[in-house]
Amino acid sequence: MAGDTLRAMADFDYDLFVIGGGSGGVRAARIAAGHGARVALAEEYRYGGTCVIRGCVPKKLFVYASHFADDFRDAEAYGWRVGATQFDWPTLVAAKDREIDRLSAIYAGLLDRAGVTRFDARARLADPHTVEVGGRRVTARIILVATGGTPWKPSVPGVEYALTSNEMFHLPSLPRTILVVGGGYIAVEFACILSGFGVAVTLMYRRDKVLRGFDDDVRDAVQDHLAARGIELRMNANIERIERLEGGRLRMHLDGGGAFERDAVLCATGRRPNTDDLGLRECGVDLGPHGAIVVDEMSRTSVPSIYAVGDVTDRINLTPVALHEGHAFADSVFGGKPRPVDHECVPSAVFSQPPVATVGLTEAQARDRYPNVHIYRSRFTPLKHTLTGRGDHKTLMKLVVDGDSDRVLGAHMVGDDAPEIIQCIAIAVKMGATKADFDRTIGIHPTSAEEWVTMRTRVA
Ligand code: NDP
Repeated sequence: MAGDTLRAMADFDYDLFVIGGGSGGVRAARIAAGHGARVALAEEYRYGGTCVIRGCVPKKLFVYASHFADDFRDAEAYGWRVGATQFDWPTLVAAKDREIDRLSAIYAGLLDRAGVTRFDARARLADPHTVEVGGRRVTARIILVATGGTPWKPSVPGVEYALTSNEMFHLPSLPRTILVVGGGYIAVEFACILSGFGVAVTLMYRRDKVLRGFDDDVRDAVQDHLAARGIELRMNANIERIERLEGGRLRMHLDGGGAFERDAVLCATGRRPNTDDLGLRECGVDLGPHGAIVVDEMSRTSVPSIYAVGDVTDRINLTPVALHEGHAFADSVFGGKPRPVDHECVPSAVFSQPPVATVGLTEAQARDRYPNVHIYRSRFTPLKHTLTGRGDHKTLMKLVVDGDSDRVLGAHMVGDDAPEIIQCIAIAVKMGATKADFDRTIGIHPTSAEEWVTMRTRVA
């Protein structure tokens, strides 16, 4: 490191101050410390961020819990006599809380072992090199904002009665009936989770098909699966106001007339970056739509000493992306290995039941960019469900191929284990595999995944 830089660093309390102890912030702090930087991190709530505390991890535990409803039913088809079953919500919440406590402590421990100074308090920028935290002013050469996002609700009258995903992890009891508003990741995942627990679920979406942005065949398949699970779908509908009735039940009044009642309503209508009252604008940090911090490909903001990673930048709001952004930032700024984050071809999953997973371009995106697109598609009943009689439990697999280069541009799946399978397919797609590469790969029999290497006939 150049002598000038070292001298400049010595003028500050720390080389790096990270605001936010979630996936991106913790990763950045640990890697920067590993590169020899003096690092501090402030977290006002619990370590681990949305993913660990009230997102991916507890959600996935709920998905497992909810799935037993299907498993018990399927077991009977395989000769098991399961008997009467009963689900106890408080037992699940307590078990989930124990695991989240454990994980959160691990995150704090990782920071401690990396030599990062922890401030268990809210931090706010005072100037481009100074943070106010826990009644103190602390200076740093570089400040990284990794404060994540928070659920957002539309401002209709009575929306204060609506739950968000945050509260879903600590409901004192399950409602008998619920309205889920929205058609994105969280709406679809919670609709499936709750229906597995026996809650009567209505899903309301303002357009005609859930999961906007996903491949159309995937969207159709998911919508069919939601209906087959007994979830009531109200498409092209929106709430005008929510009325709280005596006894606590809620009456939903719809845009354009009509009303109905449910015990609870969950707004899964998107998330917004946590940038309020952080002193960002006062320091000259540019904010974009919905308050997202504007950054370049190196996660630099408009102020040279301030960087930002993760959901607060509203690029691709997924934990593994935040981890990559945090890691690349630390390597670039403190490791002497500058590298931008590659946001191309990021795989993702929706943990619906069955789940969705996808990597690369949808058919529509591919047709926009390539003149000659080939489509391979397979729909089949997985072997397991030949006995369960759940013929409606069809798996969908779809390959989007550039007909000119033979390169696989996208792979989409709706079916059991889709996220586990697509994670591996994503490596091939990222490497630039061709359809011929898929074809010369030998399958593993009998699996669903072997279908990826046996799709011979073009459907479009
Ligand atoms: P999404 O952006 O995925 O979905 C928001 C939904 O709310 C959309 O269907 C949107 O409709 C609808 N909506 C937005 N505004 C309104 C409004 N005013 N009235 C009615 N409906 C509205 O957000 P989520 O909250 O589901 O999730 C946030 C993000 O978190 C995701 O985008 C994803 O990045 C991440 N996430 C990832 C998960 C995973 O990896 N499995 C799981 C959960 C979250 P429209 O389509 O018309 O805009």
